[in-house]
Amino acid sequence: MEILYSPHHAKHATTLRLPGYPLPYFEIPARAEAIVQAIRKAGLGKLDEPRDFGMAPITDVHAPDFIRYLQTAYQSSRPFFEGTKPAIADTFNGRGWRHKPTGWPGQLGYYSFDVAAAILEGTWEAAYWSAQCAVTAADRVRSGSRFAYALCRPPGHHAARDQHGGFCYLNNAAIAATALRRSTGQRVAILDIDYHHGNGTQEIFYADPDVLFCSLHASPDAEYPFFWGGKEERGEGEAIGCNRNWPLPHSVSENDYLTALGEAVAVIREFKPGFLVLSAGFDFMESDPVPLNGGSFRVGPSGLDSVARIIAGLSLPTVIIQEGGYDVERLGLYVARLLTGLIRHT
Ligand SMILES: [Zn+2]
Repeated sequence: MEILYSPHHAKHATTLRLPGYPLPYFEIPARAEAIVQAIRKAGLGKLDEPRDFGMAPITDVHAPDFIRYLQTAYQSSRPFFEGTKPAIADTFNGRGWRHKPTGWPGQLGYYSFDVAAAILEGTWEAAYWSAQCAVTAADRVRSGSRFAYALCRPPGHHAARDQHGGFCYLNNAAIAATALRRSTGQRVAILDIDYHHGNGTQEIFYADPDVLFCSLHASPDAEYPFFWGGKEERGEGEAIGCNRNWPLPHSVSENDYLTALGEAVAVIREFKPGFLVLSAGFDFMESDPVPLNGGSFRVGPSGLDSVARIIAGLSLPTVIIQEGGYDVERLGLYVARLLTGLIRHT
């Protein structure tokens, strides 16, 4: 198993509490360090630092003005937020807007869709190297490796072409998928198993007939990100049918979850992609503390073995991108168990 990891992730760290929520900022450096330890303990392979592919794979997905904003928002807002406090919007563009602001206070609200992706001093650097982990993993798979795991932190699947939110800044899965598309010309399928809908990834590829996006997630009627993730969202134009959502009840049983996963895998098989990008969030495991309904899907550790078996059954060269998962005590074990399962079922 190829494993990509950058220590730069630790530069993005806050003890902030989420404004308006009775929850701490769960997306912390200890998550990545727990995964590193578990991967080493499981003997899954050596951890490589990513190659620097520069800005091109990032600008292939994200808008140049959005990237400039991510690079400068922290420094621009210093006089207002003082000291080491993060930059967070207090006014969002919501439904309908008529003016695109050029100053930082308005830009914070224009380029973000929630308060859960604060910009800290080291956020850009961490997000940049997280994306390079994804591109390097894609490059390894393009060069013949069956699996490459990118330990991406911060995660990415909520980030759209020019919006950040939900702990995400750059969409690592979209960047990996686009790099594979551009370098090989082959179709790519993205399977998102994070508990939350991958709204950013969906929006980036919504009109692209060469990238299939399949997502299993908690129904947006009850769970974040609320405004995306319905079954009826199937893509547009030539890409109708290339976006498929499986919104599930938050208390879905392991059996029903695996049935839905089997359906998604059947859709992927029919699409005949050359590569699979797996957005692997582990907050769908029953012990995760983040779900708003007091518990995640009823999937336990042995269910994870079945998840690995079903995905490995696609027999596709696969890039695995780390997304969410906030049970820090067990997160490393979950990641190691999925990766081990993928190898075993190959
Ligand atoms: Zn999630």
